[in-house]
Amino acid sequence: MPFYEYVSTDPHAGCDYCGKPVTILQKIGDPPMKKCPYCGQEVRRLISPPSLAGQNSRAPSTGEVEKAGFTQYRKIGKGVYEKSAGKGPDIISSD
Ligand SMILES: [Zn+2]
Repeated sequence: MPFYEYVSTDPHAGCDYCGKPVTILQKIGDPPMKKCPYCGQEVRRLISPPSLAGQNSRAPSTGEVEKAGFTQYRKIGKGVYEKSAGKGPDIISSD
């Protein structure tokens, strides 16, 4: 399953969740996320993931993410993702 990264279309309007790029694991065929599940701000999908690690230390409540049917992962290392919401393996390594 592919990872997608989303960020608020307006860097001044997003909440803590969407104001920075957030990594979401989606099934192939899932429609792209259009709005932040927390604040409703429009989000856009990033084409390529940012290379910076350790930027995703924020910890939003996960209920809304799960309700929206998304699985959310945060990057905890080089090519390693830890699940923070939704269904799926707890740890994914792309290595
Ligand atoms: Zn938001």
